[in-house]
Amino acid sequence: MVKSKIRKISKKCIVCGKRINLTLYSDKNYRGGYYFGTMELPFGKGEYKDLKTTKLFGKKIKITKWTGKKRKVEYWECYSCYEEGQNESWLEDIIGRLYGKRCKDYNKGCGCCKAWEVYDMIIDYSRGRL
Ligand SMILES: [Zn+2]
Ligand SMILES: [Zn+2]
Repeated sequence: MVKSKIRKISKKCIVCGKRINLTLYSDKNYRGGYYFGTMELPFGKGEYKDLKTTKLFGKKIKITKWTGKKRKVEYWECYSCYEEGQNESWLEDIIGRLYGKRCKDYNKGCGCCKAWEVYDMIIDYSRGRL
């Protein structure tokens, strides 16, 4: 057996704001909360305006523009939020605001569809289906 190094860090739960005490292991496992990746979130004062073209997953797409600042955040959830599944409505809200409603039919080149596809993946992941 390989001896693993242990590192303790703390992060904030993005849903409830509580502190999460995490234990990281050298084999990339972690305990204490759930990590979903990084996201860019609207930050501070601003509003959603106009459409602009941006790149998402290597494809050019149109999105609504946030006039305020943006902040890159790591998406961590504490155990209790994870269990309550609050991330679903929270995420749905964010994606809905950034990319608009889900299209009726899936279109491969569509940024909106791509975003919702990622959303589905996260939901599947958080429900333990992946
Ligand atoms: Zn929480
Ligand atoms: Zn679409």
